[in-house]
Amino acid sequence: MNEDELALKAAVDEYEDEYFEDMRFEDGSITDPFMGERDSSDRRYPQVYHLPADLYNRVGIRNSGYRFTVVSPDDSTPTVLFKPKTVSFGRKYIKDKAAILHEMIHVHEETLSDRRFTLHKDALFLCLYNKLKAKVDQLDDRIFKQLQFHDGAERALRCGPHGILFYLKALELDLRCGWEPETVLGFEKIKQKPGVSIKVAPAEKGRGCRSRPRRQKE
Ligand SMILES: [Zn+2]
Repeated sequence: MNEDELALKAAVDEYEDEYFEDMRFEDGSITDPFMGERDSSDRRYPQVYHLPADLYNRVGIRNSGYRFTVVSPDDSTPTVLFKPKTVSFGRKYIKDKAAILHEMIHVHEETLSDRRFTLHKDALFLCLYNKLKAKVDQLDDRIFKQLQFHDGAERALRCGPHGILFYLKALELDLRCGWEPETVLGFEKIKQKPGVSIKVAPAEKGRGCRSRPRRQKE
């Protein structure tokens, strides 16, 4: 691993702890109401969310097996390859926080592709939607527009689909970072406009790294 790749890896590790506790279903994240321990006598909540611990241990970038690499030419657009598990960045993008966060969402979605996570993903979707509803103007309109996104097919071919879960998490990261909505989603396009500043609002107070061990699930 060269110096650029070490710097990229350090950024990914930092952002993983800071911004992705929800996609790892960590204690205290917005998904907690769905994932928290249940009183087994409470029949309102079936135990469907209690999956084998080894499955939870596969969630997250560090356990994903993905390698973040720096490739030539320097302006290579960041791209996720699912086989072999690789996320490649041109040198131009290795300090681009929006670009790194964008690709990290793709990897997180991939780690949740096991069908046993279907309900987890639904819960995550709902929690993100509820969090954003009061904070992002015209959220429903934005979602519908994203569903009809004119270059969706081309983008899906290039770096994976930008479905609604991806879209909501990208908006949530925009909020946390104090960026305009859709900065993480469309980082390439924004970068192509000279003079465009993407940092426009005070960042939402970030969450610190939560180092306590994972709750044991069974
Ligand atoms: Zn993408």
